[in-house]
Amino acid sequence: MIHATSLTMFAGGLPSKDAIELIGATFVPVGTGASEKVVLYAKSLHATAIHCTPSYAIYLADYVRREAKMDPRELGIKKFVCGAEPGAGIPAVRAKITEEWGARVTEGLGNADMVPIIFAECQDQSGMHYNGQEYVYNEIIDPESGEVLPIETGVSGELIYTSLERECSPLLRFRTRDRVTILGTSCKCGRTSYKLRCVGRTDDMLIVLGVNVFPSAVRDVVSSFYPQMTGEVQILLDQPGPGVKPPLRVMAEVGTEAQDQATLQKKVEEKIKSVLTVPAAVQLVPAGTLPRFEMKGQLIRKLYEER
Ligand SMILES: [Zn+2]
Repeated sequence: MIHATSLTMFAGGLPSKDAIELIGATFVPVGTGASEKVVLYAKSLHATAIHCTPSYAIYLADYVRREAKMDPRELGIKKFVCGAEPGAGIPAVRAKITEEWGARVTEGLGNADMVPIIFAECQDQSGMHYNGQEYVYNEIIDPESGEVLPIETGVSGELIYTSLERECSPLLRFRTRDRVTILGTSCKCGRTSYKLRCVGRTDDMLIVLGVNVFPSAVRDVVSSFYPQMTGEVQILLDQPGPGVKPPLRVMAEVGTEAQDQATLQKKVEEKIKSVLTVPAAVQLVPAGTLPRFEMKGQLIRKLYEER
């Protein structure tokens, strides 16, 4: 199994290595940004599975066609285990990966604050089973009222974790901010744990290239340019988050003391990149043109139609 994600200080890194080896698979550490090696090892070691983000699975198919001059299916990958961002559970994304590779796609869900991956799909691919009963007690709550919701098919809310066996930093009723929907409480595979899909966030966190970004953090970076910038920003989303195709599109107001706008724009983009580690495309607009809010500011502008 080729591990095409990060290894260090990442919930899907070293813990995944242990899990992959525990089931008897050979762990092939390739990491990110090394598509040439993925192709090389897939061929030379006859790898049959890849662990990566769903967006990488799609990118890699293009890469194989373009650079290796091969049909991705010729590499013989039978399985993609995806995570770190939503996507593998979205029917259109899953269908695309399956079509490109002729491979089965499953996804896993975990949390760096609690335990790595405690939800994962079985061969039925009908949602992620809960597999961490001995370690984590979880609940699903209404994110607004905090009310505990029943574990029943169709229930949707925020996932809450309580550690059962950890002595060091045991988290109690930790709010993941992951919004999940329960897809079933029984399964053809025989497991009796419930199954869910992560459908978004209860806050407005975005994920760009696997990196978590809060719109308020973008605003803070832009505000640091005051008085050249007013600090007012809007993040433009072409499609529902939290996954965002890079670059992150940011509209930001120039202040009254702004001089050379082209240089300023570049400086803001560079600072977002260095502080938040995500690429951004900043569009400068005149002071006073972005909406003001009396209560909590709405920093995200949706350019898509909500269903
Ligand atoms: Zn199952």
